[in-house]
Amino acid sequence: MEQENLVSRDLAAIWHPYTQMKTAATPVAIVKGQGTYLYDNSGKRYIDAVSSWWVTTHGHAHPYIAQKVAEQLRVLEHAIFAGFTHPAAIELAERVLGVLPQNQQKIFYSDNGSTAVEVALKMCLQFWSNQGKPKTKILAFKNAYHGDTFGAMAVSGRSAFTAPFEKLLFEVEFIDLPTAHNISNLKSQISHLKDDLAAFIFEPLVQGSGGMLMYEAAYLDELLKTCKANNILTIADEVMTGFGRTGRFFASDYLEHTADIFCLSKGLTGGTMALGVTSCTNEIYNAFLSDDRLKTLFHGHSFTANPVACSAALASMDLMEQPETMQHIRRISERHAAFKKEISGHPKLKDIRQTGTIIAFEWQTGNDTSYFSSLRDRLYQFFLQKNIILRPLGNIIYILPPYCISDDDLAYVYDSIEEALETI
Ligand SMILES: *Cc1c(COP(=O)(O)O)cnc(C)c1O
Repeated sequence: MEQENLVSRDLAAIWHPYTQMKTAATPVAIVKGQGTYLYDNSGKRYIDAVSSWWVTTHGHAHPYIAQKVAEQLRVLEHAIFAGFTHPAAIELAERVLGVLPQNQQKIFYSDNGSTAVEVALKMCLQFWSNQGKPKTKILAFKNAYHGDTFGAMAVSGRSAFTAPFEKLLFEVEFIDLPTAHNISNLKSQISHLKDDLAAFIFEPLVQGSGGMLMYEAAYLDELLKTCKANNILTIADEVMTGFGRTGRFFASDYLEHTADIFCLSKGLTGGTMALGVTSCTNEIYNAFLSDDRLKTLFHGHSFTANPVACSAALASMDLMEQPETMQHIRRISERHAAFKKEISGHPKLKDIRQTGTIIAFEWQTGNDTSYFSSLRDRLYQFFLQKNIILRPLGNIIYILPPYCISDDDLAYVYDSIEEALETI
């Protein structure tokens, strides 16, 4: 009863993200979260196998994060961040710099992943213009996803999602993911464009929204080296890959060369609150220091460095640094690898790929287009009926779980995927 009431009130008042409101199934009303689980109002319990859009790291409604957030709320809920500062922002900046590669020296706060990317792009473009040698082109990967605001959208792969805005998106040079086969080509392409390219932005090792597409650190290293040699700034968008997702603290920890800028969000607060971070080198920071006020980075948001969000991030950092967390990440990575081995070669799967706690299964698409076009929705409903939240990207299903997921729950998700392979 109450469940239906919530849904009808929702439909009367709310427009959901990435949702065709005319044809979408009615939303499930979630009233409670705990650990790996989300509960709807009829008491049905779901395994959140996608960490609620890739944000939840330590599990839902984590009591430690809740306590720290509650304490902060009673002390300071918000403070203007231009001309003022506060302890939570300072401590968080120090701690995030402590886990980032050494070349990262300054933290700029914003609200989410897209804004972290916008800030990174502005930093790079103004870095060049402040020095009187403007460069305006950005290099990015095909199938990239960097967010939904205009700048972030411009550097993302062009698709049906971006089509209505195409004319308004600035010019971007898109390249293929690097492989043994194309790496030397890509390198000469980059060298050729060096006078135009302000920056190269990339999702290290895993392209999330593009379909959990994975590529090798060694080739990314080659590209970073080439960019460095050609005076092109580099931006590691670790919004999804950060905070343990790929098996190390950052995906960039698999690299020898380090980007000039990092974008963080999603797991930054353990998935509790919206917060974005753009970190940079002192070289970039110094290019904005001047007696000329026009060289200032004129960017900020009302909720920049919100103390409550910072306290959630600090609490999440405490949990990240407990040895059990890395043990969980290793455990999940090992389970994924074993399951990958077990079902490799399955005739219905075109590809299975894994990086750390992320595993993706690409369904064969075959010739039957009507089967294919409804595949995503059938998979989604199949898992929902099994009390599992998996949100396929087209014909790709993936598991990206909170680190607290139990072996039993993982086994149940794997079993359900095997069942889907037999029945769908
Ligand atoms: C989700 C995501 C973003 C955008 O973050 P939002 O907080 O949704 O704006 C940017 N980059 C990557 C790699 C992401 O996965």
